[in-house]
Amino acid sequence: MVYNFNSGPSVLPREVFEQASRAILDFDGTGLSILEIGHRTPLFQGVLDEALATARELMQLDKEHEVIFLHGGASTQFFQVPMNLLNENETAAYLDCGTWGTKAIKEAKLYGNVDVVASSKDKNYTYIPKGFAIPAGAKYFHYTTNNTIEGTQMHSIPETDVPLVADMSSDILSRVTDFNRHDLIYAGAQKNMGAAGVNMVVLKKDLLGKVSRKLPTMMDYRQHIEAGSVLNTPPVFAIYVCMLTLRWLKEQGGVAAIEKINDQKAALLYDTLDSLPIFRPTVAKEDRSKMNVVFVMDDKELEMEFLAACTDNGMVGIQGHRTAGGFRASLYNALPLESVKVLTDLMKEFATQKA
Ligand SMILES: *Cc1c(COP(=O)(O)O)cnc(C)c1O
Repeated sequence: MVYNFNSGPSVLPREVFEQASRAILDFDGTGLSILEIGHRTPLFQGVLDEALATARELMQLDKEHEVIFLHGGASTQFFQVPMNLLNENETAAYLDCGTWGTKAIKEAKLYGNVDVVASSKDKNYTYIPKGFAIPAGAKYFHYTTNNTIEGTQMHSIPETDVPLVADMSSDILSRVTDFNRHDLIYAGAQKNMGAAGVNMVVLKKDLLGKVSRKLPTMMDYRQHIEAGSVLNTPPVFAIYVCMLTLRWLKEQGGVAAIEKINDQKAALLYDTLDSLPIFRPTVAKEDRSKMNVVFVMDDKELEMEFLAACTDNGMVGIQGHRTAGGFRASLYNALPLESVKVLTDLMKEFATQKA
């Protein structure tokens, strides 16, 4: 048995792996592989339609919001967003609360002015800044809902009249939230939604067509909306895996149902960490992420020993990010509660042994 705590690409439901592997040999009884069908065939259109409809349903999106699938990972959205929304003489507001947000800021500066309204860099991004003001004149406000590397998460949507843009790569569809409050949402699929190679972008059309720069066709959101996500050959297999994962989530009872399980997983792990002084969670309690749980041990030798014990017990992906050290357990939607039980049991046993 393998317990996969990888941060991304990460664990997906067993059923999804089984269905996806069957479809590689024979897609829906056609005798054809999902890898050899045209992206403009009714066969693939069916996959795309179901993926888009299920995503809309799970997020309860209103009619003003469009959903598209794009290539290039969330990192492409770091620049595609300002390219489409921000003129050179205009200013966008950004929240700097982690590695990914910092990268988004760097790219936005290529296209216009960036006003960093608050930052938690002073404490290595171990908390979420509070009480910051978003200037009313900003073209949009960009924030990261969950900081995958540092293990913090926003627990409310910032109050503002400025259009809201969110990078939800690592917590999309993990909890109930008002997706419609956002003007643009993007997420790489490989954490909570499927296989690497595709991004989901949710956006309001009325944001678009307001910049004066010329946009390459492939970078223009309007072109992708008009082409229904098949402007060019889309990542067919990645979209297929995404569709299967969305279908699975719907069968689990949707976002509210998965949130309950995600809450249980996070509570079990944080309660265990809080009860064992040998382990130390690194982030401010009120900003703890329910998706990525980051912790350290003050004795680096013990860290190595615990890591080896995790490996011996079938746990993978628990080592912290190369920039953060320590440990990170990612508890995405598809991670079973059982995996957290195995991890916390090992922690308790280890703490007792070392006491
Ligand atoms: C993983 C991640 C990214 C980068 O995703 P890529 O698909 O590798 O470009 C961006 N933002 C967040 C919050 C992430 O977790």
